[in-house]
Amino acid sequence: MKAVIFDFGGTVDTDGVHWSKKFWDAYQRHGVPITENEFEEAYRRAEPLMSAGIVEQRSGLLNTLKQQVALQVDYLRARKLVDSNPSSDIVQRIATTCYEEVGRTISGMWPLLADLHREYLLALTSNFYGNLEAVCRELMIDSYFTAVIDSACIGVWKPDPAIFCITLQRLGVRPPDAVVIGDSYDRDIVPAKSLGCKTIWLCGRSWHTPDDCSAADYQITSLHHLSSQLIERLNSTTTRERTK
Ligand SMILES: [Mg+2]
Repeated sequence: MKAVIFDFGGTVDTDGVHWSKKFWDAYQRHGVPITENEFEEAYRRAEPLMSAGIVEQRSGLLNTLKQQVALQVDYLRARKLVDSNPSSDIVQRIATTCYEEVGRTISGMWPLLADLHREYLLALTSNFYGNLEAVCRELMIDSYFTAVIDSACIGVWKPDPAIFCITLQRLGVRPPDAVVIGDSYDRDIVPAKSLGCKTIWLCGRSWHTPDDCSAADYQITSLHHLSSQLIERLNSTTTRERTK
């Protein structure tokens, strides 16, 4: 193996917790009186608006989270599911809670990324909002990654395998020499496998688990289960194994 290609959202930033769950936990912690179904509808409505909107390329993670939560709360307020008082600081409180949790998760990743960086070329390949490089600088992980591929910057989004082709070209690595690691089976694992990459599925708190997981060479439940020994075992992997 020569390269390790990570997804960012739900992978490096939360260690396998889907962002819908991360946000929902914060809504609950702050006592927002809505059901999980009502929240998930708000999340589903807000994400396409976020992707279609404009995020300042130098914008950091806290501002990005505030934009996401503001769109969710707009939906909930329009349906009178939350207080419509414009002075409410619910957006600030929820975004800050998520931001602080990501900070703790990322700082826990620094030793792992440093170890892998010594042995492999590392890359990020993510459906993001155009500011992933700025977010990586803010989180002090930018120096580990030779390539940071942000879908909004190149106009190609997962699950299009072309986004991984671009990453491989930037790294100068052939598909069999790269492992792709992500929390989304459909967006990360399936397209990467279709190109001939090795795959590790980060199987955390996801929305659904497909019946057929055969595109995943390994499954892990935390990035802290990653090691160069596990990555090198991929060279001889012919059947799917599960590592917990
Ligand atoms: Mg993800």
